Amino acid sequence: MPGPEFSNKLGEILVRGGTLVDETVEWRGDVLVSEGRIAAVSRDDSLDAPKGALVLDAGGCVVSPGLVDLHAHLREPGGEIAETVESGSRAAALGGYTAVVAMPNTEPAIDSAAVARDVLTLGEKALAEIAVAGAITIGRRGERLVPMAELAELGVRLFTDDGRGVQNGGLMRRALEYASGLGIVLAEHCEDIALAAGGHMNEGPWSSRLGIAGQPALAEEMMLARDLALVRLTGAPMHFLHLSTAGSLALVRAAKSEGLPVTAEVTPHHLALSDAAVAGYDPVYKVNPPLRSVSDVKAVREGLREGVIDAIATDHAPHAPERKEEPFDEAPAGMLGLETALAVAYGALCGGPGRDGGDGADGFVPAGDGAAMSLPELLGFFSWRPARIAGLDREGPLDRGRRGGQGGPLRPGAAAHLTVFDPSAEWVVDATRQASRSRNTPYAGRRLKGQVRHTVFAGEVVVLDAEAQR
Ligand SMILES: [Zn+2]
Repeated sequence: MPGPEFSNKLGEILVRGGTLVDETVEWRGDVLVSEGRIAAVSRDDSLDAPKGALVLDAGGCVVSPGLVDLHAHLREPGGEIAETVESGSRAAALGGYTAVVAMPNTEPAIDSAAVARDVLTLGEKALAEIAVAGAITIGRRGERLVPMAELAELGVRLFTDDGRGVQNGGLMRRALEYASGLGIVLAEHCEDIALAAGGHMNEGPWSSRLGIAGQPALAEEMMLARDLALVRLTGAPMHFLHLSTAGSLALVRAAKSEGLPVTAEVTPHHLALSDAAVAGYDPVYKVNPPLRSVSDVKAVREGLREGVIDAIATDHAPHAPERKEEPFDEAPAGMLGLETALAVAYGALCGGPGRDGGDGADGFVPAGDGAAMSLPELLGFFSWRPARIAGLDREGPLDRGRRGGQGGPLRPGAAAHLTVFDPSAEWVVDATRQASRSRNTPYAGRRLKGQVRHTVFAGEVVVLDAEAQR
């Protein structure tokens, strides 16, 4: 039953004239939404709009199940100057997301049922479903485990100390043993801090040329290798956040062929940008893990194409403007992602040769020869695959903003979470007009191809003609 916060108008909506795409099929048709659910879907013909229904034009667009982000920093509680659950959810809706997993590196960290409950309550009024990830250790200090069972009871499915890896292998082993009985998944930010040695960018020819301390690919790969060995030992599933190196891809490829229960994500920026972008010392390109070499970018793209990687996740990391104006080696790492993710990935993976018009010298790695994947394939990495990893595909009780039924399929009775994406629309990213409270997007001023036109969340039109409705 809808809870008291389930305040959508829940009128009827007809999404007309699009190409419908979900995990199994692609066809032309209309979608009728009523009372928060898909009421009817047509095939190769059109539906009549009921009297009073809002008609959304999807001509030239792809209509898919809503996007699901496994990895966003919404900064609340404690970092409201940079983002809130509300502003982050508005950015998410504009990016076509109908569900977001909020990372626990808040202040205080999401390391108790009380803090998790607070964030879930904030999420009740959000423009997308807000799930929370719990921390693995209290205060993300890497010393004592959080009460995972209490958090799991609230529906928390992913646990991570993201922003930091769990450095102590013995503690990570215990965490995995504990987690395996709870039906939850531990997610690792792979970074051995001794090897990373405080580096601010990728270690390689560019870090030498620029005189910026680098962190080697090995800092990521060593922790990943350790965790894969722990998964083999414990049998507990694990998810790997924002993998960025060719070596990491090779490790996950081997682990999957061995049958280990692991999943992995990559970010749009690691698909689009190389460490050459750092050449101007602009901290907007500082991110952790750092932007890597062109050959790493190509390996990450190939990892998606061959299915070694399961999902594309934003690692949306807002920072207040004054923080990102500090010198490169003092500025915090992280960049915005929610409002641009699908268009950026579409350009990198579906664009075809020369689409970007660049040669990669500015750090934007051009799309390869021939399309690496189709738009329906790409949408799988943004919607139904991450929905399953986060457990958001299951229908949930409609309390605490919990919606469930994310990731499709598009059929009568399913929850109405829809993204209408126009692959031919071109737009210029205007950092001052974004919904995020922060401005640290590396795509400011850049022309992107492919834009989210409408987003329907739980039967409510939250984005209409690329404008947020509340
Ligand atoms: Zn991280």
